[in-house]
Amino acid sequence: TGELMKGKKGLIMGVANANSIAWGIASQLAAQGAELAFTYMGEGLERRVRPLAESVGAKLLIQADVTDDASMDAAFAALEAEFGTIDFVVHSVAFANKDELKGSFIDNTSRDSFLLAMNISCFSFVDVARRASKIMPNGGSMVTMTYLGSERAIPNYNTMGVAKAALEAATRYIARDLGPRGIRVNAISAGAMRTLSLAGISGGRGMIAQGRAMSAMKEDTSMEGVAGAALWLCSDLGFSTTGEVIHVDAGFHMMGLAGEDEG
Ligand code: NAD
Repeated sequence: TGELMKGKKGLIMGVANANSIAWGIASQLAAQGAELAFTYMGEGLERRVRPLAESVGAKLLIQADVTDDASMDAAFAALEAEFGTIDFVVHSVAFANKDELKGSFIDNTSRDSFLLAMNISCFSFVDVARRASKIMPNGGSMVTMTYLGSERAIPNYNTMGVAKAALEAATRYIARDLGPRGIRVNAISAGAMRTLSLAGISGGRGMIAQGRAMSAMKEDTSMEGVAGAALWLCSDLGFSTTGEVIHVDAGFHMMGLAGEDEG
């Protein structure tokens, strides 16, 4: 615990359960003194998310579907009513239909499912950035979550990889728009971790095992490491970093061939 986030208020989007990356980030921000509001998706999830939110003294817990303008309007109105202004937003939201997250990309990708994945996983960050920036008069920080499947063709990641590439590009354009207002906008490219979303990807467990085997550190990506990067970006330590994609993956992204050195 510490005081890196003392006096800062922000929104966490995308906690589904205690394994969610959004929750890993939220708990570290709270431990450093941040005041938090949460949005979650789906009535059924409230019973999982409420105890987590309450355990960090959340000021607001509201259901919001990023594809539904009315629910986003209501969520941001409630956020403004509670906090007035905010200092940071963590966007940890993505979705693609399960049938697309396997096998052949070209054969398994339909127009509707492609657009749904882009809507929830990319456009939502643009929409959130526009809404949040209106209540960030003192500058601040926005963080979204991405994966290496945006840069490399990774088995089964398919549509989501394309959506993540678009999300990373959107991060740069949002950073360009909001830079003059002192709002920094970055993406964390995390290595594979065991969450609900990963379970939707065919061979998700293999992504973790291979990521570990191919990483420089020969380790799994840790939630603490991902949350630590988010803490750096959301706190004043992150001054001067914007429009960046930061890999937190035990050095998986930069390795060439797998295998042992000889001699
Ligand atoms: P998760 O399932 O816990 O979180 C995904 C969240 O997205 C859930 O809370 C879900 O309710 C929310 N969501 C889906 N559709 C939504 C909608 N229409 N409106 C609002 N919210 C919606 O899984 P996670 O792994 O913590 O995923 C969080 C982010 O991290 C995602 O962007 C994911 O792509 C990214 N990521 C995950 C990994 C990994 O290995 N788990 C690696 C890199 C990046």
